[in-house]
Amino acid sequence: MKTNKWSLSSLRFKCTGCGKCCSGRGDYYVGVSRAEQRRIQRFLGISWRWFRARYVTAYVDDTEGLRWEGDRCVFLDKNSRCRVYPVRPSQCRTYPFWPEVVASVSSWQAEAKGCEGIGRGAVIPLDIVRQRLRRQAKAR
Ligand code: SF4
Ligand code: SF4
Repeated sequence: MKTNKWSLSSLRFKCTGCGKCCSGRGDYYVGVSRAEQRRIQRFLGISWRWFRARYVTAYVDDTEGLRWEGDRCVFLDKNSRCRVYPVRPSQCRTYPFWPEVVASVSSWQAEAKGCEGIGRGAVIPLDIVRQRLRRQAKAR
């Protein structure tokens, strides 16, 4: 992974809750492990079978992701809020601190075109950025 030390130690981010990262992203998908699925299923208080049928898509490479309806994550409500926010998958928790996004200034700036939280707020401490990068790498 190519990273710029300066970029990792000077990244500003504050989520505005606009919901754009949960919709309208072409062939984007949100990977979800079985453990993450269990947490969401229990949070929703529904059966495992119903949860799997209603909310999970299986891919040919044996990975699984949250179902998308049209161009929206199935858990994005009409007010652009996440219905499972406390138990959202790691991919959502770690955004935008993904290796490919923080790989360079240009990739960070390109991502900012779709996420208005990038560049806002206080600088995120480097140890938090690294923690999220590790968590996201582990989830893949
Ligand atoms: S696009 Fe960015 S600012 Fe908007 S909800 Fe997603 S992370 Fe937050
Ligand atoms: S689970 Fe929540 S945070 Fe993640 S993509 Fe879906 S609506 Fe967005």
